Formats: sequence, structure tokens, C-alpha cells
Amino acid sequence: MDRPTPTVAIVGRPNVGKSTLFNRLIRERRAIVHDQPGVTRDRIVALADLEEGRPVQWVDTGGLVPGDDASGINAQVLIAVEASDLVLFLVDGTTGLTAADERVLDQIRPLRRPTLLVVNKADTRVARENLGEFWQLGLGEPALVSAEHGAGIGELVDRIGVELPQPEAEAAPAGGAIAVAVVGRPNVGKSSLVNRILGESRLLVSPVPGTTRDPIDVLLQRPEGSFLFVDTAGIRRRAKVTGAPEELAVLLARRQIERAEVAVLVIEAPTGVTSGDLAIAGAIWEAGRAAVVVINKWDLLDDAGRERLDRSFPRLAELLGDPPRVNVSAATGRGVEDLFERVLTAQRAFRLQVSTGELNRLLEQLLYATQVGAGPPTLMLFANRDLPLSHPYRRYLENRFREHFAVGGVPIRLVVRRRSTREKRTA
Ligand code: GDP
Repeated sequence: MDRPTPTVAIVGRPNVGKSTLFNRLIRERRAIVHDQPGVTRDRIVALADLEEGRPVQWVDTGGLVPGDDASGINAQVLIAVEASDLVLFLVDGTTGLTAADERVLDQIRPLRRPTLLVVNKADTRVARENLGEFWQLGLGEPALVSAEHGAGIGELVDRIGVELPQPEAEAAPAGGAIAVAVVGRPNVGKSSLVNRILGESRLLVSPVPGTTRDPIDVLLQRPEGSFLFVDTAGIRRRAKVTGAPEELAVLLARRQIERAEVAVLVIEAPTGVTSGDLAIAGAIWEAGRAAVVVINKWDLLDDAGRERLDRSFPRLAELLGDPPRVNVSAATGRGVEDLFERVLTAQRAFRLQVSTGELNRLLEQLLYATQVGAGPPTLMLFANRDLPLSHPYRRYLENRFREHFAVGGVPIRLVVRRRSTREKRTA
């Protein structure tokens, strides 16, 4: 399995230029840049390559602090920092070191994330005169940039590249356990569900020391098989932060999802499917993981709620390619036992292996198809036409494969190679 996409958070007191640097780094200029605090930003998290083929999640923590909050840091920022592989601690070269800089640093230091000091507006003479002060922070040699003019960005990117974990494969979980991520919006009942699962089990539950710094994975042995629940500590801790923007929830979920084979998406029955649920579902699908949908708080479902759920559920089912679903109440325990069977079903589907013969009997209109990967199933088609990613026929084919092989909830990757019509199928 691939290593999770690394995350880089830009942190600093208000007005040092976090949003400008963020935009510079993601090579777009969409956020509003303004001299006054309290400017609405239109995004907080962006996925952009550090270098070709090396994607990074960039987080502008300024977007997590209400505009008139002079502290520049709050619980959401701390959570974003905790979920990061590298912090860019940004200061303003023209003002020199301030007490507010030190307060921010004091709060993030205990989280012990690797931190790179970045001095912004460093292209001015006054900034060069102030530079010495920043060495007092004990963060080593600062990277000097001008976010606004783009100076020093190349060097900064190089240093980020050195600091981040190298993009190499991560070992599969020990003992062939199925890695499971429990994800969902705040308050849907993720921690209640995990507690119910782990608390009720009279079988072995053991914490697994994390690879690098994702501490509390829990290995659960069940009659159905072994399940490794990833980042259960994070699920419990994050439940305490309410009102966090959707983007932060998706960022945190994506990190869990990428460590798992099967993502269990928890939604709330009485509320039905919301845009936040769909955003997290989208992250599961993009990451290419199998999905199981848990509909929690079934005990609270009344007629109006059932109508909402029935009306909103089809969009989610469509987005996730008809995933296995289980209705539960984490509060009473109803249905929770059934989850394991669904996870197993999803994982088997994720590992689907099909023969080339079967594949080609299904596809008379194409020249040739063969499976080139599993988990998620990846099929290479040699076709007499191009099929762009957005092409409806591609989605149609994916759906046909999914139905034919009965692998609901599993993304199927199609790699289409063009082949001239004269080279006829030989297999
Ligand atoms: P998380 O943020 O997704 O981890 O959500 P929590 O597990 O903290 O649950 C949020 C709230 O919903 C808490 O007050 C729970 O007691 C409540 N809750 C969770 N699951 C259920 C359920 O199945 N039924 C009912 N009635 N309440 C639930």
C-alpha cells in the first residue's frame, strides 16, 4: 500500500502572509489576500504536487481561525498541526520577532511536529536586518521567501522535499489483518461505534505501536478474521472539536483512509446524507479504497427522518458504486455485529481477481482487456478509441464490471490503451 499523502501545514500569527504563501505553493491565486485580518478565505486545504508525482496536502491554518481572533491559533489549528508531517512556521521579516510569534510557537511545540522556520517578506532591507532575531527561536536556519513576489519559493520547496517522508511503499499490516478506517463528519457517532466494537469484544484487543507516529491502531481478532482499526486515538480526540470546517474533516479522514483497505463511512440516519458525507465519500473514492456505509443512530429514526434518508441515500450509493451498507445504533449495539461481515465482503471485492477470458467474454465491443492489479481492481483495456477520465462510457464500463463481478463499494480503475483496429484480438 502506498504511504499516505504527506501533509504540510502553514502556521503563524495573523497577517504574516500564510494565505499568500499557501497560494504561491499551490500555484494558484484563488484566495483573497488582504492587509487586514478577518478576510474570508475560500479554501483551507489543497492537494498539489511538491514535485512531479509527489502530491502533498497543503493546509492554510489561517483559514481555521476566525478573522478577529488575534491569537492566530485554536483547537482546530492544533489538530491540523498534529495531523501534519511538516509545519511551516511563518514569520514576518519586516516586523521582526514578536511576542505573538512566540505564543504561537509555544502552543505548537508540545506537538513535536518537524518544523521549518520560514521568514516572509525577506526581500526587504529591514527584513535582512531583523533576521538575527529569528535564530533565537531555536528552529535552525530560516528559509527566506517573498510569498507575494515568489522569491525563494524554489529553495523552500527543495527544503520541504528533504524534510518530508520519502514516497516509498508502506508495509502491509502485520498478520494479514484487514486495515479499516472509520471516518465521517463530527458527531455522527464514530467514537461511539469504535468504543462499542472494541469495548464489547471479549476477544483479544491490542494496541499496535504505529509505524512512525500514528499511535493507536487497534488489532481486533474476531471469528470472521482480524481487523486493524487505524488511528482510533484520533477518532476519539477529534470528536471533541465541533464546528470545524468540512475541509479539515476531509483532510483528517483522508489520512486515515490512505492507511486502510476498507473505509467505513459513518453517517447519521435521522439527518440523512449531507454534503459533508459526500465530501468524505469522495475522498474514499479518490483514494481508491473499498467503502462500507454505516448508518448510525438508527434508534433515533422517525418517519420524517426515514423519508430524508431514503431521499438522500441514492446519491451516496451512486458515488460509492453501490457500497455494502449496515444500519446500526452504536448506542444500543443494534446491527454492530453485522459490520464485520460487510467489511470482509468489501475487502474480498477489493482484492478481486478475474481471468482475462472472463473479462473479454463480458466485453465484446472492446478489443482486449486484462487485469493488471488488485486492491483496487485495475483493468487494462486495449480499445479502438480514447476514453478520457470524464467520459461517461468509462463510468458505464466501471459500473458493468462492478455489477458483473458483484463488487459494490469498490472503485474499479480502468487504464485504457489505444490499439489500432487492424491489430485484432489474438487471445
Ligand atoms: P464522533 O464525533 O463521530 O466520534 O461522534 P460521537 O461518537 O462522539 O457521538 C456524537 C453524539 O451522538 C454523542 O452524544 C453520542 O452519545 C451520540 N450517539 C452516537 N451514536 C448514537 C446512536 O446510535 N444513537 C443515539 N441515540 N445517539 C448516538
